Amino acid sequence: MKLLIMGPPGAGKGTQAEKIVKEFGITHISTGDMFRAALKNQTPLGLKAKEYMDKGELVPDEIVIAMVEERISAPDCAKGFLLDGFPRTIPQAEALDKKLSEMGITLDGVINIEVPREELIERLTGRRVCRQCGATYHVKFNPPKVEGVCDACSGELYQRSDDSLETVSNRLDVYEAQTAPLKEYYAKTGLLKNIDGTKSIEEVFASIKNALQK
Ligand SMILES: [Zn+2]
Repeated sequence: MKLLIMGPPGAGKGTQAEKIVKEFGITHISTGDMFRAALKNQTPLGLKAKEYMDKGELVPDEIVIAMVEERISAPDCAKGFLLDGFPRTIPQAEALDKKLSEMGITLDGVINIEVPREELIERLTGRRVCRQCGATYHVKFNPPKVEGVCDACSGELYQRSDDSLETVSNRLDVYEAQTAPLKEYYAKTGLLKNIDGTKSIEEVFASIKNALQK
């Protein structure tokens, strides 16, 4: 099974990705992890990417594509893979398509987890973290017994700046502008599986399995 997964921040993509790779016995390729590994192991591509990153520039698509190619060719991807975090733009999707067809690989599906913006904002801005022990809570979905106080250590709970309304709105805007057009792109290829991400973790996972069996 060769899959791609996409979804806005807060849609539960990471949780579902873990369940998918376990269920189908395939390898999770998160581009974030792939980058960190290439830099740490100082692979030729990792070193090239580092040159751009050190200058504060974006790593060109060709380098990212080459890394993805290298990663997909590894023995642990023989049974399949779930690509997560790439492509993020239409040009990247086109480049990936070209590369996959050169490699003789066809994708089996593109999973797109959808959650309305208002709900994403509620999920993301409601996070609270304990200053002392790092425990995480959610004001609505996982509240502490006493507001603002950690259950475990009585430390003070705070909102990380990443979770502020302004930052969250910006991240969602970037996603909408850049990545959402990919939905149309993959819908045209017939690969897109739209999944309602507002349900429970198990229900969302059941709809993903169901969509992949069709
Ligand atoms: Zn605590």
